[in-house]
Amino acid sequence: ETAPAFLSVWNMESYYGESYIVQNISFNVHEGEILALLGRNGAGKTTTLRSIARMNSPQVTAGEIWLDHQPLHKMASYEASRAGIGLVPEDRAIIPGLTVEENLQLAQIAPPIGWSLERLYDLFPRLGERRKQEGVTLSGGEQQMLAIARALARDIKVLLLDEPYEGLAPVIVDEIEKTLRIIKEQGITTILVEQNAVRALELADRAVILDTGTIVFDGAAAEVLGNEELRSEYLAI
Ligand code: ATP
Repeated sequence: ETAPAFLSVWNMESYYGESYIVQNISFNVHEGEILALLGRNGAGKTTTLRSIARMNSPQVTAGEIWLDHQPLHKMASYEASRAGIGLVPEDRAIIPGLTVEENLQLAQIAPPIGWSLERLYDLFPRLGERRKQEGVTLSGGEQQMLAIARALARDIKVLLLDEPYEGLAPVIVDEIEKTLRIIKEQGITTILVEQNAVRALELADRAVILDTGTIVFDGAAAEVLGNEELRSEYLAI
């Protein structure tokens, strides 16, 4: 018997109503690594992240999810959040009417509290400069930074990022990528869902590729970059 992985998804199945989406998947994520979760549109990437974060939908009907010996599959979303899961959704979900700083402070109301404002502004200087600005008036890139900072404002172990590069200029992607490397150096584990598969694979340690709700590849990110067949068949790159 080997020790269980830091984050372990085992025989997980998820439904939206009658639609069988995540079709019995198992994969591990090691502590401190960046795992790219890739696949074509509709492959089930967002559904997998939402299942791990224990959102109300989809319904996870089978399997187990373990984070650092804690059974996430038995938890509600707020408990998974408290256990260390930080989901940054695709729409970023910045709260209207609140400044940048208020968005961060709101995340810090519920214990366990994570990074201090000072530490967050150190990582994202642009947010510090704009802390009094209403969050929803930030640029797309800045909103993505705020969404990531807000996740770190709680004491998370795993960052689940849903298409963080979407709609952003390459220079802004560079900037976010740089911060994701720093976040990794701080010991946080990341699952990165991205349509921009090449950028994701260049950053990631390992990759899992989904196709219609099943896993078709699990291995080193570099291996995917060098595999023409995988690239064209499942990633269209
Ligand atoms: P994308 O890159 O397009 O976001 P994805 O890999 O993240 O793709 P999912 O969003 O997980 O894919 O969707 C997987 C399947 O589940 C799709 O067929 C989608 O239509 C379906 N689906 C997603 N959300 C819902 C929902 N709320 N109700 C019903 N079906 C859904």
